[in-house]
Amino acid sequence: MSMFGQVYVKNGRYKLKGDFHHLTPNTPIKNADRSWKLMGVTNPRDMTYIHTYGGEAPFFEALGEGKLLGSRCDNKECEFKGTIYQPFRIHCPDCLGRNSAVDMTEQARKNARIHTFMVCERSGAFNILDKPIKFVNVEFEGVSTILMSYLSVGDPEIGMKLVPIFRTTNPTYTILDLSWVPDGTGEEQLPEGFSF
Ligand SMILES: [Zn+2]
Repeated sequence: MSMFGQVYVKNGRYKLKGDFHHLTPNTPIKNADRSWKLMGVTNPRDMTYIHTYGGEAPFFEALGEGKLLGSRCDNKECEFKGTIYQPFRIHCPDCLGRNSAVDMTEQARKNARIHTFMVCERSGAFNILDKPIKFVNVEFEGVSTILMSYLSVGDPEIGMKLVPIFRTTNPTYTILDLSWVPDGTGEEQLPEGFSF
């Protein structure tokens, strides 16, 4: 079995190593109702997709360090200067200026609440979250947007006070490194790899 593709950047260019397309032999599809006659073939295909985070990279890097970054418009000319966005927005939607990254971990620990939620008993392909998935829309005082995330402990209720948890052991560098638990949850109740 070949090595999955890996990437790093040097001198402003991608450096690739390993296989980015992996071909597995096809298998026949046969019809049991017609004396096992051939109906077609399966075409197994594996590929490694190179997904660049661009200006959002600091947000994902910070999660693995136990920090929640938001972004803020600091443009003096902007009518809505000082607005904080969570999820992280690279540019201000009002003046289109470049936002500044702001560490809002403490703010999230103090005043995050469930705005609304949904519990999903089923999920799509490649889902790795435990089911049922408790999706929560998290609101923060002083932040003009609402974050979609997931609850790892307990059952969600509208208005419930939450605190963030971070996958600081073996982070995946994806949004799954951030989750939430009800305020007052003990460290021993956190999923493996997560900390406050
Ligand atoms: Zn602005």
